[in-house]
Amino acid sequence: MQLSTRLQLFNEPETLKMAKLGRELRAKGIDVIDLSLGEPDFDTPQHIKDAAKKAIDDNYSHYTPVAGYPDLREAVCVKLKRDNGLDYKPENIIVSTGAKQSLANAVWAVVSKGDEVVIPTPYWVTYSEIVKLGEGVVKLVSTSIENKYKITPAELEEALTDKTRLFMFSSPCNPSGSVYSKQELEALAVVFRKYPNVYILSDEIYEYINFVGKHESIAQFDDLKDRVIIINGLSKGFAMTGYRLGIVAAHPDVVKACEKLQGQLTSGTNSITQRAAIVAFTGDLRPSQEMNKEFERRKKRVLEIMNGIEGFKFAEPDGAFYVFPTVSQYFGKTDGEEVIKDADDLCMYLLNKAHVSTVTGRAFGEPTAIRISFANSMEKIEEAWKRIIAALAKLK
Ligand code: PMP
Repeated sequence: MQLSTRLQLFNEPETLKMAKLGRELRAKGIDVIDLSLGEPDFDTPQHIKDAAKKAIDDNYSHYTPVAGYPDLREAVCVKLKRDNGLDYKPENIIVSTGAKQSLANAVWAVVSKGDEVVIPTPYWVTYSEIVKLGEGVVKLVSTSIENKYKITPAELEEALTDKTRLFMFSSPCNPSGSVYSKQELEALAVVFRKYPNVYILSDEIYEYINFVGKHESIAQFDDLKDRVIIINGLSKGFAMTGYRLGIVAAHPDVVKACEKLQGQLTSGTNSITQRAAIVAFTGDLRPSQEMNKEFERRKKRVLEIMNGIEGFKFAEPDGAFYVFPTVSQYFGKTDGEEVIKDADDLCMYLLNKAHVSTVTGRAFGEPTAIRISFANSMEKIEEAWKRIIAALAKLK
């Protein structure tokens, strides 16, 4: 069957592929523990669920404005002021069907064919694929584990050129868990000031999953703010991945461009979710803070376990819910049946022999590492790591 050439521009997400393989094994009756997917294992907070139920009873069942209900866009401004000290107006805000759509809208709104997009590695799988689908040119920049996989001003300066249209990063970062401090962002801002045509996409979807304190946004620097595009949403901090709502906060021209794209693709996002989002963004944050505490407890335990694994090299995650150890010390080793050539092989080995699903670092632009989530119960985490350790010990 002849399908479009557009499909060849990009790959399917490795994260979803691993989850699919895990499900297939589970369907055969094998007890696979999923440490591959990036979603909180908690329930959505009650006050938000109540708002969603009320929205159904109040008959929020019609098409919504493409950019979102006006009172939701207002609520997002309230959140940005309350949590981040940022002043935005509703004209700066558009909501979409998940942060993934917000990212796609934003990238396609500012990147033209042949424009360079600088992405520090490791990065979230979807960034590069969205850029390729938009006919931009992906320029990956390696960072070092010694600097917790955060780009330095010198590395940034080296990467930016007159052809650069966009810089994309996440803080807290998926997959590395690194979190940029105000001082680190300020140092990057000095470089960005020299490149006034570069947009800065700041993906802050993991804002509430932070183990080092206050979340800092690069939009706080007033002279850069007009070209910063903030991405955020409900999925991670409120355990609402299935509700599908993401936000863009940006210059009104960027917002209008996103609205134009969205108007031909999905229209306004789900009405029930939008009503629930108003309560999420302006309501009680304690349930999110409780989830964060539990993630921190698990992180501590996982680090304790990983410290006992000889040869594992990793940077301690300061946010999000993943560990990202380098595993190259296992390359070339075998359990007598399978030879581990690279991180892909190691992930498949852990899936088939330990029945634990993880994700290869190659998908995130860091082929020496693998990503292992701790968004699962402590009991499952303990069991999964026991299996991982036993499987790794067989590699000689
Ligand atoms: N950005 C990052 C860094 C993510 O990890 C994810 C989800 N894995 C998203 C964006 C997309 O989130 P959403 O569920 O809102 O589409």
